[in-house]
Amino acid sequence: MSTIKILHMYADMLDLYGDSGNMEVLSYRCRMRGIECVIDKYSIDSPMPDFSSYDLIYIGGGADLEQQHISADLLKCREGIAKAYKEGVFLFLICGGYQLMGRYYRDADGNDIPGLGLFDYFTVAPNSRRKRCIGNIVIRTQLTGKAVDVVGFENHGGQTQGVKTPFGKVLYGNGNCSKSEAEGYTEKNVIATYLHGPCLSKNPEISDYMIEYCLSRSSGGKVQLQKLDDTLENQCRKVMLDRLLK
Ligand code: GLN
Repeated sequence: MSTIKILHMYADMLDLYGDSGNMEVLSYRCRMRGIECVIDKYSIDSPMPDFSSYDLIYIGGGADLEQQHISADLLKCREGIAKAYKEGVFLFLICGGYQLMGRYYRDADGNDIPGLGLFDYFTVAPNSRRKRCIGNIVIRTQLTGKAVDVVGFENHGGQTQGVKTPFGKVLYGNGNCSKSEAEGYTEKNVIATYLHGPCLSKNPEISDYMIEYCLSRSSGGKVQLQKLDDTLENQCRKVMLDRLLK
C-alpha cells in the first residue's frame, strides 16, 4: 500500500474558516483509493521533526496575533523546512502560512513579523483594520496542466507583493492585493494561497495534484490516480461559479 506522510504545522493556532478541513479532504481522497495518509502535528514546543521525512508540509491561516505567537518557533524550523522544500517536499500554505514563507509580514499595527524568506514576496497590511479583502473568490489556475477554476473565501488585510509565479488569475474577488489580477504563489511543489473554505473541499483537482505529486516523487515514476466520483464537489463549485461569474 502506498503512503503519504503529511506534517500539519500549528493546527491549534493557525486554523481559520475550516483550514483543517483540507487535511480531512486529502486523507479522504487517499482513503478512497487505498492510499494510506498519515498526518502528524507539530506545534510550539513539539520536538523538532525531520521535515525531509514528510511528503507534504501544511500550514493554515491565522490572525495577526497568532502569527506573532508562532513566529519565533517557526524561525527555529527554518533550516529544516528550507532543506525539505529544496529536496522537493510539497509545501501547501494558506493565508497566514503563505505570508510567513515570504520575506516578512507587516501587520496592521506596523509590526514586522519575519518570514522564513523561502520566497521573494513580502506582505504589508494597511494600518486601518477596516481595509480588508473579504469575500468569495474565484481564480483560474493552470497548475495541473489545464485551466481549473478554483473557488474559496478570502479574508486578509495583508497585501502581498513581489510574486512572480502566482497560483492563479483572479476572476472574482481580490487576490494578493486589493483588486489584483493575481492570486497566491506557486511552484511545482508549492501551493500558497489566500483561499480558505476549506480550499480543497470544492476543488478536487487541487487535492489530486498534490496527492499525485507526492506519490510520483516517492515512487520515482509518474503515478496515475484512480478517478473518484466528484459529482457533489463539482455541483457545489458550480453553484458558486454561477453565482459569482454570471
Ligand atoms: N493576519 C493575516 C492578514 O490579515 C492573515 C489572515 C488569514 O490568515 N486569514 O492578512
